[in-house]
Amino acid sequence: LQSDLSHDHGLPNATRDGQRVRLMVNSSQGADFSQAKKFGADGVGLYRTEIPFMQLEQFPSEKRQVAIYRELLESFKNKPVVIRTLDIGGDKQLSYFPIEEENPFLGWRGVRVTLDHPEIFLVQLRAIFKASAGLGEVKLALPMVTTLEELDESFRLINQAFAEVEEELKDEDTKLYRPKVGLILEVPATLFQLSVFAQRVDFVSVGTNDLIQYMMAVDRNNMRVKNLYSHFQPAVLSVLKQIASECKRANIPLQICGEMAADPLAALILVGMGYDELSINMSCLARVKRAISRFDLVEMQQIVDTLLTYETEAKVKDHMLKIMEKRGL
Ligand code: PEP
Ligand code: MG
Repeated sequence: LQSDLSHDHGLPNATRDGQRVRLMVNSSQGADFSQAKKFGADGVGLYRTEIPFMQLEQFPSEKRQVAIYRELLESFKNKPVVIRTLDIGGDKQLSYFPIEEENPFLGWRGVRVTLDHPEIFLVQLRAIFKASAGLGEVKLALPMVTTLEELDESFRLINQAFAEVEEELKDEDTKLYRPKVGLILEVPATLFQLSVFAQRVDFVSVGTNDLIQYMMAVDRNNMRVKNLYSHFQPAVLSVLKQIASECKRANIPLQICGEMAADPLAALILVGMGYDELSINMSCLARVKRAISRFDLVEMQQIVDTLLTYETEAKVKDHMLKIMEKRGL
């Protein structure tokens, strides 16, 4: 199997009929970066900044953060890189900034924390802008955004940090790049205002790990209810299709960065729905690439049409397993 997969690394990131699908990696590990390029990744679709923060004993200084982000951006020079701003809370804790709550997944997470602590947010934003100076454009993604006010406040702080870095570097001969700013779509409330969000952001990245958790009212890490936590649930598929249609209508770039896209069966569905950028763990890249290279786009679209008529998760999953088996996958 291993040699089979490594053979597939050389395949283009495309469907059988040659439709390009951007395969990006979710990574925060320097060691992954060279591997990712070797395996044909198109860029980094999700850099979780809380991971390096979690490995330290205190908040990293601005200078330290510049070095961390610079390593990432230099490794992927001239390729798209999405840096997600600090997403602590929930199941991600910093030893030096403990958050104790009864319902952490419904509590102080993502931008809820960084908007309450602009001093943490501004340092991070400045570090990202400095790290990208002279190198190229960077994309920022905002986690756990729930309301338009949060988005507007995030933009205000992004603009402030950018202006501060511009002022600080004004005598230096380094080009600064205004970031593209995207919404991590993971809180169901944003679905109902998606057309308004889409007018304000440069791209949308769907975080299915949390979106499914909040849609299905299941803790994503609770084994007892894990049968409900499935990306093959008809309600989940229906929502994902709606997001794809809405973003297409708004002509806004769309990506998916949750673990769902790393499942080859789900990747076929997503591509069929119109998601042409999947961000996945590096270890899953080859399998996903192989799966999408065995189907024409129109076949994937037909699969989606059929799946959307099913009323149960079991039927959806069964259909997908049969299709994969038929193709020898
Ligand atoms: C998600 O929620 O789908 C996501 C990509 O982010 P995380 O798993 O870090 O919450
Ligand atoms: Mg998330």
